[in-house]
Amino acid sequence: MPASPYRGRLAPSPTGLLHIGHACTFWTAYQRSLAHGGTLVFRNEDLDPQRSKPKFAEAMIEDLRWLGIQWQEGPDVGGPFAPYEQSRRREFCVEAWRKLRDGGFIYPCTCSRKDLANAAAAPNEGDDEPLYPGRCREKLGETSQHDTPAGVNWRFRVPDGEDIAFDDLRLGPQHYVAGEHFGDFVVWRRDDVPAYQLAVVADDAAMQITEVVRGADLLQSAARQLLLIRALGLPIPAYYHCDLVCDETGVRLAKRHDAVSLRRLREQGYSPQAVLNICNPLGLHNALEQGIVRA
Ligand SMILES: [Zn+2]
Repeated sequence: MPASPYRGRLAPSPTGLLHIGHACTFWTAYQRSLAHGGTLVFRNEDLDPQRSKPKFAEAMIEDLRWLGIQWQEGPDVGGPFAPYEQSRRREFCVEAWRKLRDGGFIYPCTCSRKDLANAAAAPNEGDDEPLYPGRCREKLGETSQHDTPAGVNWRFRVPDGEDIAFDDLRLGPQHYVAGEHFGDFVVWRRDDVPAYQLAVVADDAAMQITEVVRGADLLQSAARQLLLIRALGLPIPAYYHCDLVCDETGVRLAKRHDAVSLRRLREQGYSPQAVLNICNPLGLHNALEQGIVRA
């Protein structure tokens, strides 16, 4: 048993092959866990039944092992918080949904995609979800007839104007204003799949994760997750958001169609160390020059 209470996690989604950006972030998570003498948990975030594929889940494990990352709990090695596949942990999400419903924190949203597009809310720059105009908020009190979350989108009512602040261990103090930087966000999807924000909060708490290491594209997600954590009365993990690997024009590798997969580099004969070298700016510069990564 590790003496340290530190529990970190690797939480990839099996929707494609892992690329260099993933390798850099997961390597950082591994190093932080090692530095703390902690436990590293591998969680397969295979919530989306349409996009998740078992072959990619197998490839994630294989490629991260090849890179040299070791975890102590996961779908391949088991552990005290099994199962480590999100698709098999629905009950934890349903329980969280029930608490949010009973606490009056969420409401069913029946807006169609078209309704939302017509509402013409200002596009929210750099964010994944447009600001919800709040037209279903009046349903906040009408949740008792819903025994299950199925059938509609469920949204969390954010406290408009509240400053949500947290200290990122790498990026320092952060703050976001609820209702301005993000609006009422979906916690459960109409197609009966828990949304990312809810699943992450439910699983991190159930698996007693103490530090969340992930890419900086999820920095603002932390603010939403802190609202869920507070509503559910859960402990707050520490956050450490990594730089995203960008090419020399500042475009994220993950956003490029030719983001180099670990699988391809491995097949081309690159060593794990050569791949990890690309995680630092000089290494990336060289990789671009050599055409390993094409700008
Ligand atoms: Zn609505």
